[in-house]
Amino acid sequence: MPWRLLKYGLSKSHNEPRFFPDTKPLKPHYDVVIIGGGGHGMACAYYLAKEHGITNVAVLEQGYIGGGNTGRNTTIVRSNYLTPEGVRFYDTSVKLFEDLSDDFDLNIFYSTRGHFTLAHTDSALRTMRWRAEVNKHMGIASEVVDRQLIASEVPYMDLDCAGHSPVMGALYHAPGAVARHDAVAWGYARGAYNRGVEIHQKTRVTGIRTQGDKVCGVDTDRGRISCNQVVSMVAGSTPRITEMVGIRTPIEIFPLQACVTEPVKPFMNTIVVSGSLHVYVSQSSRGELVMGASVDPSVLHSTRSSFDFTEGLSDKMLDLFPFVSRLKMMRQWAGMSDITPDFAPIMGKTPLDGFYLDAGWGTWGFKATPVSGKTLAWTLANDRNHELIEPFRLSRFADFDLVGEKGAASVGH
Ligand SMILES: Cc1cc2nc3c(=O)[nH]c(=O)nc-3n(C[C@H](O)[C@H](O)[C@H](O)COP(=O)(O)OP(=O)(O)OC[C@H]3O[C@@H](n4cnc5c(N)ncnc54)[C@H](O)[C@@H]3O)c2cc1C
Repeated sequence: MPWRLLKYGLSKSHNEPRFFPDTKPLKPHYDVVIIGGGGHGMACAYYLAKEHGITNVAVLEQGYIGGGNTGRNTTIVRSNYLTPEGVRFYDTSVKLFEDLSDDFDLNIFYSTRGHFTLAHTDSALRTMRWRAEVNKHMGIASEVVDRQLIASEVPYMDLDCAGHSPVMGALYHAPGAVARHDAVAWGYARGAYNRGVEIHQKTRVTGIRTQGDKVCGVDTDRGRISCNQVVSMVAGSTPRITEMVGIRTPIEIFPLQACVTEPVKPFMNTIVVSGSLHVYVSQSSRGELVMGASVDPSVLHSTRSSFDFTEGLSDKMLDLFPFVSRLKMMRQWAGMSDITPDFAPIMGKTPLDGFYLDAGWGTWGFKATPVSGKTLAWTLANDRNHELIEPFRLSRFADFDLVGEKGAASVGH
């Protein structure tokens, strides 16, 4: 348990100190500029300072810390992916997550719940078996379970799904967890700031300057900066940044929506995902049901939310959990998901010297926050891709060397 939590709990006054003071003027030069103050940008800054002693770093965020997809996601953390490359990568992240509250001395409310991915068809069950075998081979707790076990763990669920598409079994992943997403971003931000990193909110990157085939600086709406290395960690805004340096990626942007209900007494200890029905749900520590679906059907750079989403989600949720029909939906929102053709990220060096990418996080990048920050920091410090991210290099699309994760990453964030 973080000591600050105990101190805070026992104290009569609750004067929480500011995480860091207001923005200073930009310096004319930084060694590293990180574009994007989401969880990934903050984690990269933190590990650069903590593990590599690189502190002449500026994180430039056009809005506020965690205001992008980091503060909009449904916080599912898991490692039961389909490919060995994916499993190894996300498992490293799960292990980092488990220690983050102590590392930050800030409670990120990491809560291991267990994660069910329901199978309603023979083919879904076959994919679950495949995933379970890959997972077990990589030492990850993952198994196919029958209806009886599901019924005992999720007693309120209608396994017959109102007769439409009965549940046949599920992939059960005991380490599946949730965490407070904004605490993760703020914990990394404070850790980076305390080690000398500058965090500039309300600072938008408008251009990237190059000299020959090397990066030499960035233009912002607060002035021009020179730097040696630039890393783009902007998720749904990636195409706007890569356009600035003439790099093409196969990323497409789709809105991804989610919602929460009013809070109710705790009744659901696990995370439940149905790929076939395109819904997933968990219960937050406040008691709200946090629910979502897969991405909207059309490419769109927008965070508007729609009635189509609410209607479709409610329809499927009521098949699985009929009793939630009387719950009020309190909030609904959307983020912009950067989706790649193989549902795996794009990370590391690019053809432009000194320019690095961390993108293609689609619907699944919150869980990768610690590992992406750590491996990108290593990659910047050593100017070569960390071994864990080498499979996710941009050139894999030209080499036809894809990391096919669609079966494990589309609805099951
Ligand atoms: C509804 C929803 C549910 C999700 N559920 C899950 C889940 O359960 N589990 C999971 O693992 N993942 C989930 N995700 C995906 C996850 O949220 C993202 O992949 C992850 O948060 C990406 O983090 P990031 O730091 O890379 O990006 P972001 O948090 O989006 O940060 C990027 C930042 O870059 C800034 N920026 C953009 N352009 C510029 C510029 N020109 N100059 C300066 N700053 C700029 C933006 O303002 C933004 O703050 C979900 C996403 C959504 C939308």
